[in-house]
Amino acid sequence: MKIHEYQAKELFAAYDIPVKKQILCYTADEAVDAYSRLNVPLVVLKAQVLTGGRGKAGGIKLADSPEKVKANAEAILGIKIKDIPVDRILVTEAADIKKEYYMSIVVDRNTKSALLMLSSDGGVDIEEVAHSTPERIYKFQIDPLLGTPDFFTRKVAFSLFTDIKLINQLSHIIKSLYKLMLETDASLAEINPLVLTPDDTLVAVDAKMTFDDNALYRHPQIATLFEPTEEEKKEKEAKAKGFSYVHLGGEIGCMVNGAGLAMATMDLIKRYRGKPANFLDIGGSSNSEKVVHAMKLLLQDSDVKVVLINIFGGITRCDDVANGLLKAFEQIDTDIPVVVRLTGTNEELGRALLKDSKLYVANTMSEATRMAVNLALKTY
Ligand code: GDP
Ligand code: MN
Repeated sequence: MKIHEYQAKELFAAYDIPVKKQILCYTADEAVDAYSRLNVPLVVLKAQVLTGGRGKAGGIKLADSPEKVKANAEAILGIKIKDIPVDRILVTEAADIKKEYYMSIVVDRNTKSALLMLSSDGGVDIEEVAHSTPERIYKFQIDPLLGTPDFFTRKVAFSLFTDIKLINQLSHIIKSLYKLMLETDASLAEINPLVLTPDDTLVAVDAKMTFDDNALYRHPQIATLFEPTEEEKKEKEAKAKGFSYVHLGGEIGCMVNGAGLAMATMDLIKRYRGKPANFLDIGGSSNSEKVVHAMKLLLQDSDVKVVLINIFGGITRCDDVANGLLKAFEQIDTDIPVVVRLTGTNEELGRALLKDSKLYVANTMSEATRMAVNLALKTY
C-alpha cells in the first residue's frame, strides 16, 4: 500500500526526520490561507497523487505571493498526472537547495534484509542513474540482527559527506528511517531529494513510503490511509465474493477454478500470442451464482473481447458445472463470445449439455486458448 507525500512526512516528523512545515489544501483559497498561516516568503505547492514524477508533469510549483499561490494552486488542481486527477495539494515552506541527494531503504529479498541506498545524484530520475551510472548509487545491507548502530550509520554516511556535522545528521536520519520502517512494516521508504541547505542542514523535501499489505492488520492507523485505485476497488470486491482477481489489462477475460490452473491458462494465452485481461480464480465449487458474479466482474472491464472459462472438474462434476453455466447465461446478456473448456469427472456429459448453447465448447486447454485468441482477433 502506498501513501501520499504529506502522510509520509507526518510519519517522518513523528520519527524526528527533518521536514518543513506543511498544510494540506483542497482548494486554491485554502492554499492562499495556508500561505499566510505558514508565514514564510517562499512556499512550494505540490500535487498529492500516488505516483512519482510530479515535478516533470507540472505538479510542483514555487510561489512567493498570495496571487502566485492562488494561480499556481488553480493550475495544479486542474491537471491530471499519469491519468490521476489532482484533488489536493500540499503547501509547504520551500527549502533553499544547495544540493540534492537520494536516500532509500527497501526490503531486499536476495539478502533477506533491508538495503540502504544513498547517492549524490538526488532529485533527478533515480532509475536513470541506476541504469546509466549504477556506480553512483551506494548500497549497504542492514544486518537485521545489528540494525543501525552508530559505527555503521557513520561509516555509510561518509559515502556522501566528510563534514562531521553532516555525518551526524545523516546518521540520525538513517537510524530514524530504519526504525520507522521496522515499526510500521514498510517495504520501502524513499527520500528524493534529501536536500542540503546553504546553512548545512539536511531536510527531506520529498517522501515516499510503501507498506506490506499483509502486515496492515498490525497497523490500523496506517491501514486507514488506504485509498484504493479503481482497479484495487474491483479486486477488493472480488475478494469479498471469495475470488482472487488481478487486473492485467489484456483482452481475454479468464475464469478459472484453481490458482495453478489460472496461471497455466494465462501462460497458454501468452504462448498463443493473446493477452490475458485478468487472473481470476473462482475457487472450488462452481455454482451458477458464482459464475454470474464472475462474469459480471469480467464484463465490467471494457477491454475484454472474449471470455475463456477453464474448469477442471475434480470433486465438482462437469455436468453440474455445465448446468450452472447454462443457468448463469440465462441471466447474463452479452454479445461477447465465451469459450468453455471442461475437463475431469463427467466431462463428456458436461460438454454435451453445452452443445446447443451460444458457448464455444473446446475439448482441450490449447484448443480453448487458440479459439479465444482467434475470437479476440476476430479470425475464428
Ligand atoms: P517528484 O517530482 O514527484 O519526485 O517531486 P519532488 O518533491 O521530489 O520535487 C521535484 C523537484 O522539485 C525537486 O527535485 C526540486 O528540484 C523541486 N522542489 C521540490 N521542493 C522544493 C523546495 O522546497 N525548494 C526548491 N527550491 N525546490 C523544490
Ligand atoms: Mn521526488
